Amino acid sequence: MPIGYRAARIFDGISEEAIEGAALIVEDGRISSVSRHLPPDAEVVELGDATILPGLVDAHVHLVWSASAEPHEVVARESQALTVLRCAGNAAMHLRAGVTTVRDLGATDGLSIDVARAVELGLLPGPRAVAAGRAIAMTGGHGWFLGREADGADAVRRAAREEMKAGAACIKLMASGGVYGHAEEPGSPQLTPEEMRAGVEEAHKAGRRVAAHAYSTAAIGNALEAGVDSIEHGSFLDRDTAEMMRETGTWLVPTMSVYAAMSEKGPELGAPEYIQRKTAEVLEASRRAFRLALDAGAPMAAGTDCGAPGHPHGTLREQLKLIVEAGATPQQALKFGTSGAARLLGLGDELGTLGPGKRADVLAVGGDALRDIHALDEVRLVLRDGVEVASGRRVLP
Ligand SMILES: [Zn+2]
Repeated sequence: MPIGYRAARIFDGISEEAIEGAALIVEDGRISSVSRHLPPDAEVVELGDATILPGLVDAHVHLVWSASAEPHEVVARESQALTVLRCAGNAAMHLRAGVTTVRDLGATDGLSIDVARAVELGLLPGPRAVAAGRAIAMTGGHGWFLGREADGADAVRRAAREEMKAGAACIKLMASGGVYGHAEEPGSPQLTPEEMRAGVEEAHKAGRRVAAHAYSTAAIGNALEAGVDSIEHGSFLDRDTAEMMRETGTWLVPTMSVYAAMSEKGPELGAPEYIQRKTAEVLEASRRAFRLALDAGAPMAAGTDCGAPGHPHGTLREQLKLIVEAGATPQQALKFGTSGAARLLGLGDELGTLGPGKRADVLAVGGDALRDIHALDEVRLVLRDGVEVASGRRVLP
């Protein structure tokens, strides 16, 4: 039997304006239409002064991490069984907040792949997860503890093949240093263009996308030369690089929220001094980089780095608020966090918009999210494949 979810407004994930006074008709886990006319046999759910939108898509998370001061130390100390349970708890946090799809870009022992499978098998509640398994870094490179080390083009090629053999749905490459390591600066280039090209070739042959962690223009340039599909963070992007990304159709996944969270909560969490110092620099740079990419018209998808110090899972809304603060409209921010991210993940035909035939991954929030992005704080309903996974009015912390 069809169900009609009626709300004051419906944002379909792409249009400039919301559709007012209509209902989203859902049947057999899929969207059949957005219409003012309900089928005669439809059950009706009245959501009132709310906005219905596609379920959110977070293009950059780490399910093995739980936002503690030094999450990699926690994972190193605990048993693998406990880490898996930690992943399950983190996955549930996304779903409750209306994030119905995530891309996991690096997990110790490739555990994200098993979590993604467990969710698909219905063993645990969570968002659908596109998992990179272990991230690929040079020896001692950024986030080696979230992945594996490889040196030389052949080693990176083998690493990519092995991750895909293990079930990776995308590949993550480390093109520069970052903020978590003791002995690295965010901008310093790491994997070379030649090394990354080998990984990209393997991934693309298998129809998988490649995400590159890159901060400086030098590292972003290396990743673009290698043909990656998305630049993660991109904090020191310049105008020329932003233009190049528009021309090549390479996605930017800005992650201001993680730097904001770390600089706000780092001192109270007791995060190491080197993390706090690097974070403050990177936050300001990231805001400028976002603006440049927005002005250049580079394709963008919303991501967070959830799990990193101070940034708990299920908080994509914080990134969308920062995107609006940095100069985008709420409509643009919501697009980056729905249809944009779904396209980057290669799931645009199935998710990210509320068109007929799409999977019924849906979020309803109180108020008008197209006028005030803070509306995302009040969740009224979450559907995943048409199944209600959260309902009732809840204000998120
Ligand atoms: Zn990350």
